[in-house]
Amino acid sequence: MTDPQEHLTQNSTQSTSQNTSQGPAHAVQAQPFDYLIVGAGFAGSVLAERLAASGQRVLVVDRRPHIGGNAYDCYDDAGVLIHPYGPHIFHTNSADVFDYLSQFTEWRPYQHRVKASVDGQLVPMPINLDTVNELYGLNLTSFELEDFFASVAEPVEQVRTSEDVVVSRVGRDLYQKFFRGYTRKQWGLDPSELDASVTARVPTRTNRDDRYFADVYQAMPLHGYTRMFQNMLSSPNIKVMLNTDYREVVDLIPWRHMIYTGPVDAFFDHCYGPLPYRSLEFRHETHGADFLLPVGTVNYPNDYAYTRVSEFKHITGQRHHQTSVVYEFPRAEGDPYYPVPRPENAELYKRYEALAQARTDVTFVGRLATYRYYNMDQVVAQALNTFKKLMSQSQG
Ligand SMILES: Cc1cc2nc3c(=O)[nH]c(=O)nc-3n(C[C@H](O)[C@H](O)[C@H](O)COP(=O)(O)OP(=O)(O)OC[C@H]3O[C@@H](n4cnc5c(N)ncnc54)[C@H](O)[C@@H]3O)c2cc1C
Repeated sequence: MTDPQEHLTQNSTQSTSQNTSQGPAHAVQAQPFDYLIVGAGFAGSVLAERLAASGQRVLVVDRRPHIGGNAYDCYDDAGVLIHPYGPHIFHTNSADVFDYLSQFTEWRPYQHRVKASVDGQLVPMPINLDTVNELYGLNLTSFELEDFFASVAEPVEQVRTSEDVVVSRVGRDLYQKFFRGYTRKQWGLDPSELDASVTARVPTRTNRDDRYFADVYQAMPLHGYTRMFQNMLSSPNIKVMLNTDYREVVDLIPWRHMIYTGPVDAFFDHCYGPLPYRSLEFRHETHGADFLLPVGTVNYPNDYAYTRVSEFKHITGQRHHQTSVVYEFPRAEGDPYYPVPRPENAELYKRYEALAQARTDVTFVGRLATYRYYNMDQVVAQALNTFKKLMSQSQG
């Protein structure tokens, strides 16, 4: 992979020692940072950009060796643009979010398509007319599919869990073929133990639309996410310090207000116990073929230990004589990726949220800091709203 250090912005603070040695430390102490931002992912970078544009001096600290958080992309050894933390597809219905990000990147239109490997066939996912016809050897029309779903759906009095959502919509057989195994692998929990919101994210269609997302805006940053983040962080008012846990510098470098985008439970030393997160292990492979998969992602709900395989060239549009894919193996331990949506976890989060709200010197933003199963666009929207609140507080 390319050297992650090359993604340091030109303003980067290269090491902690620079700030603690006599000369630079003196200069820093003379003019404290207005904001210390923990995390250079979407939440941290959007806020850094907005604050810097309004004249604030910002220090962004990330413990990883690169900017971009989980959306970071880079070229692998073969020269294929990959997403080390799994495939990231940008999609949103928000014109505000899309317009905001468009200041930092051009776009390549891209509609993600997914197939699921079920009963030895690769069929469209989300379930649509072709999925049902191919799977059961039928020739239904859209109208007939509505009747089909109605005949197999199992009425549920109150839809509470992820199982309820699917079974009440498409019945038990499709639930078992497409959702039960996948969810168990992904979350280590049965769908009956997870909030309805998890499977409610995946629609069911009676037409032949085989796009994974139906949002108004669906596109990939033309030159990749990392380039977009570099542009966002390019203001002279922003310094970026990588390979640094904020705890290493929090007492060394003067700042007025902190924006924290890491895991909220870690910030409070897990005082109420750890919030459950789901992790992933990624297996990246490069093959000497033009393409391996028919579409961007193939899901394996019922076979293998991995949940899905994704092929980056479909997603990025890159032309290359080789191709790189990533397999995702869900794990209980490891880097926190997904907050686990369950009522008891929401309760535990509320206790941390109360602590967070009491901290007037720190603002908590982003997927891990607010324990929300947010997509990139939702994190951008949350960060833009947070910026507005910070501005109105400072003016009020
Ligand atoms: C496998 C996977 C696939 C996804 N696919 C999509 C997709 O297709 N489309 C979509 O819209 N969304 C997708 N997402 C969600 C997307 O990744 C998130 O919404 C988004 O990246 C969250 O941004 P963030 O800034 O809140 O958090 P992050 O990107 O996690 O950034 C937080 C940063 O804080 C840093 N940090 C944490 N603690 C500390 C500390 N103590 N000191 C210093 N730094 C610290 C971390 O190193 C990290 O870089 C996916 C997520 C995963 C895991």
